[in-house]
Amino acid sequence: SLMSRVYNFAAGPAALPLPVLEKMQAELLDFNGTGTSIMEMSHRGAVYTEVFMRTRETLRRLLNVPSNYQILFMQGGAIGQNAIIPLNLLGGSRKTIDSVIAGAWSLKTQKEAARYVSSADAAPIIANSDDGQGRFTHFPEFDTWQCSAESAYINICTNETIHGVEWYPSREVSDAVHASGSFFVADMSSHILSRPIDVTQYGVIYGGAQKNIGPAGVTFVIVRDDLLDLQHPLCPSAFNWRNVANNDSMFNTPPTLSIYIAGLVFEWLEAQGGVTAMAAINDVKAKLLYDAIDNSQLYRNDVQKPYRSCMNVPFFLNDESLNAAFLEQSAAAGLAALKGHKMVGGMRASIYNAMPMAGVEALVAFMQAFEKNHG
Ligand code: PLP
Repeated sequence: SLMSRVYNFAAGPAALPLPVLEKMQAELLDFNGTGTSIMEMSHRGAVYTEVFMRTRETLRRLLNVPSNYQILFMQGGAIGQNAIIPLNLLGGSRKTIDSVIAGAWSLKTQKEAARYVSSADAAPIIANSDDGQGRFTHFPEFDTWQCSAESAYINICTNETIHGVEWYPSREVSDAVHASGSFFVADMSSHILSRPIDVTQYGVIYGGAQKNIGPAGVTFVIVRDDLLDLQHPLCPSAFNWRNVANNDSMFNTPPTLSIYIAGLVFEWLEAQGGVTAMAAINDVKAKLLYDAIDNSQLYRNDVQKPYRSCMNVPFFLNDESLNAAFLEQSAAAGLAALKGHKMVGGMRASIYNAMPMAGVEALVAFMQAFEKNHG
């Protein structure tokens, strides 16, 4: 029942909007009078095709994706794409992959990319904001990047889920990258659809769905048309973006249920006013939480203010001996999954689109009461 649902601060798979879950539940056994569940029907049939097309079009509208970009729904997650991307982009004349490191996810991407180039030198880390002890508190400033003369592309992760570091390129930065003949490939897994983006600043945008989009199992790839024919000869057919694009993401059976639920989330988002409205709410939610942290004696967030993520808020208790009590009491108060990632420790509140303002208010109220009781 409604009463048993908690505020879920998990980093992913993450909370979904309640109206989406309710609609899904209502349609689960009999989709639109077909007598069949959506997950039991052919992906090539008229009913599912309509659901699929609507889902893709809604995403295109939400993110204002220009017509010279394809939207692909794939499998394998963002980590799968870390391999699929070089297999799709290294068949051209440029053979170097540049990576900017701002946390654990961009580092993982760089390590995977290094497997597909001729030598380690051809997958350079061109900037790194690791403080030397595995802590990341900002995104590397553009003027520190040591871009390769002829990079095929530049890996970035615009929201580092574990460290809570968020950054978007400015128009000047993306123009400079384009002028060099390269382009950004951006992992946006954990903040896609949290605010408007300018898709034209990127060659490729990708991510797993299980934070801001829907259930795990579907991977989104937004790719510029002119990048669809740069495959390495060994790129698997099912992961070949050209094949996927030419077959409306149905070269093989897509994750039909996950795509359908993503569509419900997109329609929910549109009903909220789209990503512009969502950004305004997300900014208020994030400010509420960061202000509560900054104004306390007990809590601390170390990320530099311009780079603080609006989606993933890691924080520490200055008295770490209180961690266990904090987690136990917050869970008992209906505030779930606040334990920080093991690489960072402490706490982390992920406040994606589906987290209502009331959830953040409840968290802040709990944190203040906890501090008072343990001050
Ligand atoms: N990239 C980012 C930024 C993430 O937050 C995650 C989280 O799971 C991943 C990649 C991994 O994605 P997946 O598990 O879908 O491969």
